[in-house]
Amino acid sequence: MSHSPALLAAIGKLPDGHSPLAAYKLLRKHKLPLDQPPPLFPYLSQAANQRLALGHKSGWICSICGKVCSPATGTIDHHIPRSKGGSNAAGNLRWAHKSCNQKKADSLPEEVQLDLALTRAALTQTYHRQAPARPQVITLEIKLQITVTADGAVSIAPPAAGIVAT
Ligand SMILES: [Zn+2]
Repeated sequence: MSHSPALLAAIGKLPDGHSPLAAYKLLRKHKLPLDQPPPLFPYLSQAANQRLALGHKSGWICSICGKVCSPATGTIDHHIPRSKGGSNAAGNLRWAHKSCNQKKADSLPEEVQLDLALTRAALTQTYHRQAPARPQVITLEIKLQITVTADGAVSIAPPAAGIVAT
């Protein structure tokens, strides 16, 4: 897919040393579709171009909090942290606020979910402790009389007392 000549001309006019924010504003102004990767900005580093491409693909929405996130506040977030073996592959990269990314720190998504589950379990337990229900234990003792006759017939009969609850 080729980019519009207007966008490419505008990129050519950006001054040397411009910020990623200027590139971001240009992409927004020219309404580049989100499924179309942005053109390379020659005055930006490879890393800055990578961030722009990821931010653009995400619609400039933080993957953690869901709010708007420009290059001024955004960064690349490793969905599975590098410290936990997460890779630099495109599938593991998300666009996120620097602050959201920091809050997430090194926790795995699964760990966050486990934390939530444990918290919920603890809250449920506390709730039940406040309104304790007396445990109901009922033991049933059933006595059966089994008779096997000489010709092999088996009969099972409950005793006269029937079922005794203890
Ligand atoms: Zn965020």
